[in-house]
Amino acid sequence: MSRSGTDYVESLRDGRRIYINGELVSDHVDHPAFKTAIRSAARLYDYQAANPEEMTFTTPTGKRVNRSWELPDTREKLVRRGLAAQAWAAQSYGWLGRSPDHVPAAITGMLTHIEVFEEYDRKRAAALRDYYEYARDRDLAMTYTIVNPQGDRSKLASEHEDKYHSLGVVDEDAEGITVRGAKMLGTSAPLAEEVLVGVQNPLKEGADDIYALSFAMPLAAKGIKILSRKSYEADAHSEFDNPLASRFDENDAVVYFDDVKVPWDRVFVYKKTAMCRAQFHATAAEILMNTQSQARYSVKLKFLAGLARRMAETTGVINFPAIQESLGNLASQAMVIDGMFRSLIHDPIEHNGYFIPRQLQIYTAQAYSQELYPAFVTAIRKLAGGGVIMLPSGSEDFDNPDMARLIGKTQYSSVASPEERVKLMKLGWDALGSEFGSRHTQYEMFYNGPHFAALLRVFGAFDWAGATGMVDDLLGSYGRGSAKREAAE
Ligand SMILES: Cc1cc2nc3c(=O)[nH]c(=O)nc-3n(C[C@H](O)[C@H](O)[C@H](O)COP(=O)(O)OP(=O)(O)OC[C@H]3O[C@@H](n4cnc5c(N)ncnc54)[C@H](O)[C@@H]3O)c2cc1C
Repeated sequence: MSRSGTDYVESLRDGRRIYINGELVSDHVDHPAFKTAIRSAARLYDYQAANPEEMTFTTPTGKRVNRSWELPDTREKLVRRGLAAQAWAAQSYGWLGRSPDHVPAAITGMLTHIEVFEEYDRKRAAALRDYYEYARDRDLAMTYTIVNPQGDRSKLASEHEDKYHSLGVVDEDAEGITVRGAKMLGTSAPLAEEVLVGVQNPLKEGADDIYALSFAMPLAAKGIKILSRKSYEADAHSEFDNPLASRFDENDAVVYFDDVKVPWDRVFVYKKTAMCRAQFHATAAEILMNTQSQARYSVKLKFLAGLARRMAETTGVINFPAIQESLGNLASQAMVIDGMFRSLIHDPIEHNGYFIPRQLQIYTAQAYSQELYPAFVTAIRKLAGGGVIMLPSGSEDFDNPDMARLIGKTQYSSVASPEERVKLMKLGWDALGSEFGSRHTQYEMFYNGPHFAALLRVFGAFDWAGATGMVDDLLGSYGRGSAKREAAE
């Protein structure tokens, strides 16, 4: 039997230090800023326990855990991991980005290419392997912080005035290392049990060695401080008014390491700048974690397309040809994402006996998805018009007879009651324009790095030789003196 939602919730009562609204929170599990999002994540574990064949596999140690931990040593396992990710994403309609199957996929992707770590340092490779088994057997909910705080992006980490603006090593001894400084964001940090730390920013060999680190720690470890952003869940007026923010606000927190002691058996990269990039890009970490992201994204776009259609039906524009064209455009874009996801899980390469989605495919999917999301949202906002704004202030307006009468007169639709219309439009605004919806646009644009970096990866991985080869082939087949083909034949 895999872990239940209750097991998961109880594991979060760990005495961690989360700061929000000027306070250090004592029990974040029941705090209004986090409690419903935590229960939404708990429901994923309950879904998993109720659907063991779809969602779990049995580890070599006899535990039943999420498929994201499974090493894909057959084609079928790769497909099943992708479908399990899609099934979990469907539980939140795609609105939980850092569900507990994202970071395990990254760690599993490091294991499929363990030789990258072994060539670097056998002790660090052994630490990673042991940690994988430890985290896998507990089916841990994890987040990661792999980006340094923004600070001044024209400067290296070592060039900032405060040497520990970005997380770096302060000291080491026989037991481990002591680290100090910040990581930019850990989405779902209040919902996760442990954090994987890494670096995706450029680091200069020599000058930046103290920042070249990767390790994993419990979020309750001494010295870890979680600085929560504003809670959209706490600000949600009611479920009726903010149906998404009230359930799926996974939060994004700055994680500060205030002289945290990390034991050696949890250190995977130490003072080796080149390994920070290799950890994600020379292994399948980036590939498997973002295959999970694409599974989720495919669900979310389908949901948003459905929302667009329901709004168009409700306002009576659904039969206008121009509106059907817009909806067709949204549907075709959702299908491109769906097709890219299918190609990821059905067209793998083999490495070390593991079946891994193609790197160029994942880079392309990331770059395209980042660009698409704001355009997709804008297209739906165009369809929505002012309907998502012309709304009662809150669900309690229906309880006031005068207001209810006026709502009945003003919220007309040919296909829905006034209350149904208000309910749908409030969902629309929460998805597209509320603070929660807006954060999602920022999330899809940035969570896996800046767009220029994604495009540079596509540039680096594309088959330019094949592409330019075709051009050169054609160019080489004629000259200024050649006769026209037609005439020559
Ligand atoms: C909602 C949300 C959730 C997130 N969750 C996580 C998480 O869970 N874990 C995690 O590790 N990170 C997370 N992140 C952080 C994310 O990884 C970073 O936002 C991302 O890597 C971009 O870095 P940045 O925000 O510092 O932007 P910057 O790198 O400062 O970029 C800002 C702008 O400057 C441009 N720019 C910067 N440098 C260059 C350059 N050299 N050449 C050209 N243009 C440049 C960029 O294209 C962009 O337009 C999250 C971010 C968001 C918004």
